[in-house]
Amino acid sequence: MKSTNNPANGLLASQKDSNPDNRANSIQTKMYADVQDSSLFQAAQHLGHEYLENIFDRNVFPSEKALFDLKEFDEVMPTASSDANTILNLLSTYGAPATVATLGGRYFGFVSGGAVPAGLAVKSLATFWDQAPAMHVLSPIGSKLESVVETWLRDLFRLPEKTVAGFVSGTSSANFCGLAAARFRLLSNLGWNINEKGLHSAPKLRIVTGAHAHSTVLKAISLLGFGTENIEWVAVDDQGRILSEALPELDAKTIVILQAGNVNSGSFDNFNDICKKANRANAWVHIDGAFGLWAAAVDKLNHLTKGIALADSWAVDGHKTLNTPYDSGIVLCADEEAIRSALHMAGSYIVSSDQRDGMFYTPEMSRRARVIELWATLKYLGKEGIDEMIYEMHQRAVQFAEELSKIDGFTILNDVVFNQVLVQCDTDALTLKTMQYVQRLRDCWAGGSVWNNRKVIRVSVCSWATTAEDIRRSVKSFQKALLLAQK
Ligand SMILES: *Cc1c(COP(=O)(O)O)cnc(C)c1O
Repeated sequence: MKSTNNPANGLLASQKDSNPDNRANSIQTKMYADVQDSSLFQAAQHLGHEYLENIFDRNVFPSEKALFDLKEFDEVMPTASSDANTILNLLSTYGAPATVATLGGRYFGFVSGGAVPAGLAVKSLATFWDQAPAMHVLSPIGSKLESVVETWLRDLFRLPEKTVAGFVSGTSSANFCGLAAARFRLLSNLGWNINEKGLHSAPKLRIVTGAHAHSTVLKAISLLGFGTENIEWVAVDDQGRILSEALPELDAKTIVILQAGNVNSGSFDNFNDICKKANRANAWVHIDGAFGLWAAAVDKLNHLTKGIALADSWAVDGHKTLNTPYDSGIVLCADEEAIRSALHMAGSYIVSSDQRDGMFYTPEMSRRARVIELWATLKYLGKEGIDEMIYEMHQRAVQFAEELSKIDGFTILNDVVFNQVLVQCDTDALTLKTMQYVQRLRDCWAGGSVWNNRKVIRVSVCSWATTAEDIRRSVKSFQKALLLAQK
C-alpha cells in the first residue's frame, strides 16, 4: 500500500522539475521505490522459506556444478547501480545451491548446529528492525531482551545470582571476554589497574589449562598478551579430561581454563574438584562450554556439568547445541565489575542509563541485536523442549556410534557422553580415504581430526533436525565410503 505522505512521492514529483540537485538523488529515489516494492520482500521471504523446506532432502555438500557456477559472482566492482530483484535472483540461483546444508539432519561437520525454525522466522522480522543494543536508548527492546535472556540463562545453567551476560558473535569472542575479565580482576587484586598501566610491567599471571584446550582459547591467550609459551599445560586422560591430580599448585595469580565439551570427544572436565581447589587458592576459573554447557539444562546429562557454578566465567554458543541461527555467543561472568571494567569504554556522547546498556558487556559498541533470535528460541523451546531436543541429539550420537561399531572396519574411540563420535578405520590412510568418500558421496558430511596421534572422522550431532532415519542413512553412506576406500 502506498501511503500518501511517502517522501518518495514527493521526490518523484520534484524530479520531474529536472532540477539537477534532485537528479543527484536518484539512488535515494530508487531506494524509496524499493521500500514500496512488496514483491521484492515477498520474493526474499518466499525463496528463504522454499530453501528451508527443501534442505532436509538435499545433497549435504554443494554439487560440482554448484561450485563451478560460483564463477557467476566474479566481476569487477560494478560502476552502475543494480536492480534489487536481479540481485536477489542471482543470489538465489547461484548462491543457494552452493550453500552447505548445515540446517538439515545429516550435517555432522565441526560442531555446527541447526536452526530452530521459530528463531529463523523471528530473525527475518528482526532484520527489518536492524537494532543495535549498544545502549538502552538505541534499542529499548534489544536491551529488554538481553536482560530477560541473562536471567533465563542464569536459571538454565544454575549459575550464581550475580552472573551477568554479554551477547557476542560466538565462543571465540566469549572466551576472550571471560579471560579479559579474569585478567582485570586478578591484576586488580594485586594492586595493578591493567586498563591504565598496561601489561608490560604488570605482575605475571599464570595460565593453567588442559592439553586439549580449544584453539580459540589459545587465540584469546595470545590476544590478551599472556603468550601461549607461558601456559602451564595439564595432562589429560584418554577422553581429554584434565587429570585433577596433575594440576599444579594454584594461587591468586592463576587463571584456570576448563572445558565443557571437548571439541573431539565431547568430554567434560571435573569442574567440582578443580573449581573447589581453585576457589581455595583465589584463582579464577573460566569454562569454555561452547556446545557442552547446554548439558547443564538436560536432566539426564547435567551430571556432566556438576560444579560449573563454582567457576567465575563461562563461554557458550547459542548457534551450536541450542540451534539459534548464526551468530550467537554468550559470555557469562559472576564478577560484574571485572567484566565491565575489562570491556570498559567511555565517550562524551555515551548515554548510559539505569537500564541495560549492552556494550558494557561486549568488546564491540555497535553489534546486531542477536539476542532477539536467542530469546525467541529459548521461549519457543521452553525448559522441556531444550531438555528433549538436546537429549535427542545425544541419543542420535549414541545410535551413530552403535551402528557404526557393528560394521567391520570401523572403531569408535571415545565414550559418547554427549554428542561427539570419533570414528577410526584400520589405518590412518584408510580413515582419511573413507572420510573423503563420505564427503564426496554428499549424503552426509563429517570432517576429520586427530585423536591420540591417529587420524579420525569426527561426527558431531547437533541439529534438532537429525532423526534416527538420518543416522541410518548416514551410517550406510559411511559403509559405502569404506568399501570404496578399500578398493
Ligand atoms: C566452537 C568452539 C569454540 C569456538 O566457538 P565459535 O562460536 O566458533 O567462536 C570454542 N570452544 C569450543 C570447545 C568449541 O567447540
